[in-house]
Amino acid sequence: MLDTLIIGAGAAGLAAAQTLQRAGQAVQVLEARERVGGRILNVSDPTFPIPLDLGAEFIHGQEAADSPWLQLAGVVPLAQGGRQLLLSGEQVTASEGMFTKAGKVLSAVDGLPEDLTFADLLRHPVTAHLDEDTKRLARTLVEGFDAADPTQASSRALAREWGGGTTQEDGQFRPSGGYGALLEVLRRGVRVQLHTEVRELRWRRGQVTVTAERFGEACDFRARRVLITLPLSVLQADVVRFSPPLGKADALARLRMGGVVKAVLLFDTPFWRERFPQAVYFHAPKAPFPTFWTPSPHQVPLLSLWAGGPKAEALPGLGQRELVRAARESLRAFFGEHPAPAAVRVYDWQADPYARGAYSYVATGGLGARAQLAAPVEDTLFFAGEATHDEAAGTVHGALESGVRAAREVLAAR
Ligand SMILES: Cc1cc2nc3c(=O)[nH]c(=O)nc-3n(C[C@H](O)[C@H](O)[C@H](O)COP(=O)(O)OP(=O)(O)OC[C@H]3O[C@@H](n4cnc5c(N)ncnc54)[C@H](O)[C@@H]3O)c2cc1C
Repeated sequence: MLDTLIIGAGAAGLAAAQTLQRAGQAVQVLEARERVGGRILNVSDPTFPIPLDLGAEFIHGQEAADSPWLQLAGVVPLAQGGRQLLLSGEQVTASEGMFTKAGKVLSAVDGLPEDLTFADLLRHPVTAHLDEDTKRLARTLVEGFDAADPTQASSRALAREWGGGTTQEDGQFRPSGGYGALLEVLRRGVRVQLHTEVRELRWRRGQVTVTAERFGEACDFRARRVLITLPLSVLQADVVRFSPPLGKADALARLRMGGVVKAVLLFDTPFWRERFPQAVYFHAPKAPFPTFWTPSPHQVPLLSLWAGGPKAEALPGLGQRELVRAARESLRAFFGEHPAPAAVRVYDWQADPYARGAYSYVATGGLGARAQLAAPVEDTLFFAGEATHDEAAGTVHGALESGVRAAREVLAAR
């Protein structure tokens, strides 16, 4: 019998598998998709001059840049320089230090006895001294960067996260060549069964039977333990049946999954450079895709557009054509008329059945829910994945660390 079955071949599942195998365990990873990586989606499309990361793209913060996994993969974290510009009314202004400025709103939570939603914090007397521009900026960042709905997100959890070294101002890098090299290293030597969608998990202490569907047929897998890295929203959607139930309903109810739609547009020339030669980030808060960026330091005439949180939820079920129209409308808001793109890729993470969103955030009153979700059950069920990481949730680094943490818990349980 296998020592440990791992469900999900994303960053968390593969890091867990590597850690367990190095410790001599027999493990197998079950993955619903036809590929590994989950929310890391590195695509080599011959119409684009560089590989595209349609999911995770950046390395957030110095600690993540120093990750041993990246070193093992030979990935060089390329620092992202360049200017940030904000469209405010008709005016374009420099917006460096956005997080520091917007962080002033979150520092107000220290004086409050209770946790508020971020939207309520903006209306509370403790933020009355801040000007409307700062509040608007903070709201835009919570919606975009955290992919969170301000009317639901916990301001305490956001304050903790923004203080935890993962914002752009703590250093933002791009993995040289994209995230593909990391996946290759994570996958090396690991037994991954692709096309295997887990439907049911029956368990008792020290014994687990997982039923999955492979090419229309049900098949069973048995192990002493299971390490579950299913995305938060997959667990919340109840599409995998646990018998007996997981007992994590409280934690699941206090966490949320934020949506993201990402579009990548390739142009014949970097038309924006004539007016904004140094700019890397452009913010047009009212546009359907309110943030776009260049692939700096790569000199390629490409823009990535991002709609997160409520902005992503406002683009539900749109087809490629409508999403491209919304992307062009967003660019028009900033640059005016511009050339048509030569090639386009769009990905709606909300419509992906194995992600059901982009990444997690904590709902008001939900501090502690991530640790609750991460806690092992009966030394038999173990949990990893970005949503279980208290400080670096919503990142590749957090997912990797959670996989190692859960693997160590498995080893300790032996
Ligand atoms: C658009 C986008 C942009 C992002 N940008 C960044 C960024 O710039 N930097 C950064 O650090 N992070 C970023 N992230 C977050 C980062 O990608 C995630 O935090 C991380 O990849 C999550 O890894 P995971 O292993 O926890 O989950 P996943 O990668 O989702 O892995 C879970 C796996 O479970 C599989 N699965 C689901 N259901 C089943 C089932 N029933 N049976 C079997 N398998 C199943 C899935 O297919 C998936 O492979 C971004 C995410 C998105 C979506």
